[in-house]
Amino acid sequence: MRIGLIDFDGKIVNLALMKLSAWHKRQGDTVILNPESNCQVDKAYCSVIFSRDRDKAARLANIFPNIQFGGTGWDLKTVLPPEIEAMRPDYELYTYSDIYKRLAGIITRKKKAEKARIITNAGIGFTSRGCIRSCGFCVVPQKEGRLYETGKIEDLINPKSNVVILLDNNFTASRNCLDKLREIKERNLVIDITQGIDLRTLTPEIAKALSEVKHLRSIHYAWDLILHEQPSWRELIFFPGS
Ligand code: SF4
Repeated sequence: MRIGLIDFDGKIVNLALMKLSAWHKRQGDTVILNPESNCQVDKAYCSVIFSRDRDKAARLANIFPNIQFGGTGWDLKTVLPPEIEAMRPDYELYTYSDIYKRLAGIITRKKKAEKARIITNAGIGFTSRGCIRSCGFCVVPQKEGRLYETGKIEDLINPKSNVVILLDNNFTASRNCLDKLREIKERNLVIDITQGIDLRTLTPEIAKALSEVKHLRSIHYAWDLILHEQPSWRELIFFPGS
C-alpha cells in the first residue's frame, strides 16, 4: 500500500507522522511525505498542529478521499493506536531540504543550513506526557491528563547525532527529572528543552543539574504561567528593587 503523510503546519519535524511512517514501513508499505496528488497514494494521514489551520486542512479531503486527520489543531481526541505510539520514529522521513525549506525568521543562510542539519539528525520525543498543572489556557490537561512517564532519554537518541529535542510539556515536574538530567550529562547529549521550565518545580538540585548539561539553545521559563497564578510576582520580575 502507498501511504501519504501530510505535515500540514509543522515547524520542525512531526513525531506522530514519523511514528506512522515507521509503522507503515514495517508493514511493507511505501511512505510518501507530503504527496501532491491522490494518484500517488492509497491512503493519507494529515497532521494539523494549529487549530487556526483546521478549515484549510479539511479541504484536503477533496484531493485525498481516503484521508485521516489528527493532531492538536484537528481535535483533542484522536490519538495514535498504542502499537504505533510505541514505535521509534522514522528518522529517514524528513530530509535536510524538507527542514531547510520550513525554517523561517531572520537568519543567515549559513545558520539556517546548520540549524536544518541539526534538526534533521536530532533525536526527538517525550519522556513524559500530561502535566501536573491545569492552566485554563492550555490544551494539555484536556488532551493528555495528569503527568505520566512514557519513556527514557535513551529511547530518544538518534544514532546520527548527540542532539535530543525533548518535547515534554513540563519536564522538571517529572519525579524522574534528576535521573533524566544525570543520564543526559553522562551520555554527553545536547538537549533542546522545547517547552518552558515551570519555575515552581525548580529545586536547587534540579537547577544545578540543568546547569550541568549541554543545551542546544537557551532554556526559557514559563513567565506567563507564573504570572497567571501569581500576579503579585509581576512587580518582582519586571520591576526588581522598585
Ligand atoms: S504548566 Fe504548561 S503544560 Fe502544564 S497545564 Fe500549564 S501551560 Fe499547560
